[in-house]
Amino acid sequence: MREVSFARAHKRKKTKIKLARRDVSRHNWQCDAVGEKRVTESSDTKVLDLLIVGGGINGCGIARDAAGRGLSVAVVEMNDLASATSSASTKLFHGGLRYLEYFEFRLVREALIERETLLRAMPHISWPMRFVLPYHKDMRFDSDTPTSKLLGVFMPWMKGRRPAWLIRLGLFMYDHLGGRKILPGTKTLDLSGSREGRPLQERFTKAYEYSDCWVEDSRLVVLNARDAEARGAQIKTRTKVISAANENGHWRVETRDTENGELQTFHARMLVNAGGPWVGDIIQSKVRLNSREGVRLVRGSHIVTRRLYDHDKCYFFQGTDGRIIFAIPYETDFTLIGTTDAEHSDPSVKPECTPEEQDYLLDFASQYFKQPLSRDDVVWTYSGVRPLYDDGASSATAATRDYTLKVDTSAGAPVLNIFGGKITTYRRLAESALDKITAELAVNKGRWTAGVPLPGGDFPVDGVSGLIDDLKARYPFLSDFWAKRLVRAYGTEAADVLGDATDATDLGRDFGATLTETEVDWLMTHEYARTAEDVLWRRNKLGLRLNSDQSRALDDWMARHRRSASAAAE
Ligand SMILES: Cc1cc2nc3c(=O)[nH]c(=O)nc-3n(C[C@H](O)[C@H](O)[C@H](O)COP(=O)(O)OP(=O)(O)OC[C@H]3O[C@@H](n4cnc5c(N)ncnc54)[C@H](O)[C@@H]3O)c2cc1C
Repeated sequence: MREVSFARAHKRKKTKIKLARRDVSRHNWQCDAVGEKRVTESSDTKVLDLLIVGGGINGCGIARDAAGRGLSVAVVEMNDLASATSSASTKLFHGGLRYLEYFEFRLVREALIERETLLRAMPHISWPMRFVLPYHKDMRFDSDTPTSKLLGVFMPWMKGRRPAWLIRLGLFMYDHLGGRKILPGTKTLDLSGSREGRPLQERFTKAYEYSDCWVEDSRLVVLNARDAEARGAQIKTRTKVISAANENGHWRVETRDTENGELQTFHARMLVNAGGPWVGDIIQSKVRLNSREGVRLVRGSHIVTRRLYDHDKCYFFQGTDGRIIFAIPYETDFTLIGTTDAEHSDPSVKPECTPEEQDYLLDFASQYFKQPLSRDDVVWTYSGVRPLYDDGASSATAATRDYTLKVDTSAGAPVLNIFGGKITTYRRLAESALDKITAELAVNKGRWTAGVPLPGGDFPVDGVSGLIDDLKARYPFLSDFWAKRLVRAYGTEAADVLGDATDATDLGRDFGATLTETEVDWLMTHEYARTAEDVLWRRNKLGLRLNSDQSRALDDWMARHRRSASAAAE
């Protein structure tokens, strides 16, 4: 069964993605490096059904769904795919245990059900995880949630506490709202002397353990884009929408290539604004709608440390400010800790984990771990901006994480604005978006994405170790780390990446940490990668392992590779 899937994957016709004729390559958050320079101008007079602004998870998820229903679609992304929020998440397919305290039952139920649907469609980039929630009866929580307010009214003596029975009740609902088939349910843990208890302070003797899932967020975006393209969509990265206007009842959209300044015009019957943190900017300054809908930008930061403990479970820590953070095993040798909630005023300001946020996360985790953490333990940080629907909530933590989709026809042609959303609910969000789009465009094609695997995901949920064994049998020169990394990234397509290699030297230069020329060539040809940053921080996380000289050498090699591809195409 597994051998068959590899053979099938190897024979599968490769989708050729033409290397764009571009040269310059530096990630730029605002992407206006080339200003108003006009190099060439091109115009596609064909009227597309849909032009999607934004190559994050929502834009690419909608593109895949729409292309699969036969719509003509283009996605335009001003940077790399997943270069904004969709590569900066905590990377969980989760129901969101804490949202129960905010009575967000619709969102939690949808997300819980979705976890297993997604897991089945992408067992390479997603996997089940167990979460350990330590409990101590003397802990106090300054919380302002609807649940704690209710408790304050009916049980005033409980004010400031999140009692054990409340947590147990929440976990009971978490276990039963979503109809689990794959993921195991909650259990109580005795921490004393256990593997899970060993890294924690001795005052924690009891914990609850429950299930959620991990996902490689930026790979999720790229795989959706690839599948959308395989179904006919155009994926245009480094392409910024600069204006959109109604022309004879459809949209005329002007874009600028953010590397060489080339201008291009698209025509589309409907526009989808999946600009994430820029959704408001697109409404106001690109499409110029007179809309009152608002987005609330909430920054969330993470820190990464060397691996802090020797098991594969995560910790769910509750803080005295009513917030929670996770500590998660990360990239084999590291631990990921996050997140924060801070107001972020302007999407054009690149989000960064401030020293205050670092200290907050270090202090928070140090209330639980035996070994206190300091700034010296931090090896990397990253930060993203949640584009939340502005529901008027008092604090960033309390603002709804649910999504809101609004069709606006006031400009004479329809635009669908996307607010909020979770990585976990992207497929359901896309289905809801397509309900609105097909109604607007009078197309009669139904839902199809549930149960359809993403590229490389056509194998059983428990099939990863078998795939690793098969890959090692076929390519005996692979180390355990290397084989696992390839299967986790490419699933049944790992053999397509390695091709007919019989020896490591057949794969060309090794840029470090098992990243070879052959793999980088695959990423440039099939996965829209253009720079070392695209490869090392979004197609994989080898940026944690390569030093700056190695990264620069990779960037130089990629620039040369682009130049020769470009020359060959001329
Ligand atoms: C700290 C943090 C932790 C999170 N953790 C989780 C989690 O564990 N689980 C979960 O389910 N969800 C999580 N989320 C939520 C999730 O990450 C987001 O809801 C999701 O990534 C939003 O995707 P998006 O496509 O809407 O936005 P983005 O990924 O930001 O994509 C929008 C894209 O639009 C592009 N764009 C903007 N303007 C233009 C223009 N004019 N022309 C062309 N392109 C343009 C941008 O470059 C960007 O790439 C988290 C979010 C944060 C911030």
